[in-house]
Amino acid sequence: MADYIIGIDLGGTNIKAGLFKGDKEPVREQSVPTEAAHGPAHVLTRIRGIADGLMKEAGISPTDIAAMGMGIPGLLDPEAGISIFSPNFPGWENIHIVRKMGEHYDFPVFIDNDVRVNMMGEWRHGAGRGADNLLLLTLGTGLGSGIVHEGKVVYGTTFSAGEIGHMNMYRQGRPCRCGSSGCLGRYVSAVGMVNTFKEKLDTGRTSIIETWIQGNREQITALMISEAYDAKDELAVEVMHETGELLGYGLSNVINLLNPELIIIGGGMGSAGERLLGSVRASVNAHALKLPTEKCRIVQAELGSRSGIWGAATHARIRLEGGRE
Ligand SMILES: [Zn+2]
Repeated sequence: MADYIIGIDLGGTNIKAGLFKGDKEPVREQSVPTEAAHGPAHVLTRIRGIADGLMKEAGISPTDIAAMGMGIPGLLDPEAGISIFSPNFPGWENIHIVRKMGEHYDFPVFIDNDVRVNMMGEWRHGAGRGADNLLLLTLGTGLGSGIVHEGKVVYGTTFSAGEIGHMNMYRQGRPCRCGSSGCLGRYVSAVGMVNTFKEKLDTGRTSIIETWIQGNREQITALMISEAYDAKDELAVEVMHETGELLGYGLSNVINLLNPELIIIGGGMGSAGERLLGSVRASVNAHALKLPTEKCRIVQAELGSRSGIWGAATHARIRLEGGRE
């Protein structure tokens, strides 16, 4: 019986893959460098290579696979199975992923946006289990989100729903590659927080982090700010607080608009945990409407870097069950 599912997490640096039996933990996992610079055909060959490798290791054949799910960064059309554009993949334009995989495999292949896929993993197997109204925010180089509303994944007219990172917070703020400026993601992503930190150093503020990086400010990371926060570094505490406060303003709008019961914070900066979330909650409590705020929990993601393969497999399972969601 075909009851295995392959979940693929396509990242700019690595392709991660998991072989799942039913809805349980992955029975096999692998990761290989993406080698995105070699172009789309090369990347697709590597995806097939890792999928074939998983099946071989587990001693199963493609007839044992019920479906493959894939999380892909950037713009895509999940119904047509086309990856329209992905910023970190050179030459990546209108790639018919599902059709190309179908030339090699008889089992169905489903694709979706990577953040939405991560959200599906957390929804079914992580911090979001049992919730019908939730959001996952990923705070990494950018800020993305996936939304479940009334038990359904929200896509929107052009599959773009959930672009909280481009919520406009300032009339004149940091420029954003979306063409606007003052977007939330330019401040509260990991990169955004590091930029806030550097701006304050430029005004003459000092920090313990300067002794760690020997003058090379390019080396400053969000993780360093967390570590300096733990060392009670005044500037790190201030930047973490300001970042959390601004994220709280953004989430207040989200809470007022969607009335979710749960907001899950993941991505690289999710590991800042309570250092960040304390300020986020204080800000939300001060600014969002009282009734929806009382019923909304803000928590850390549970699956970590494995949410991509979990989510890709979950996405395939959901699509197999018949709904786009
Ligand atoms: Zn923007």
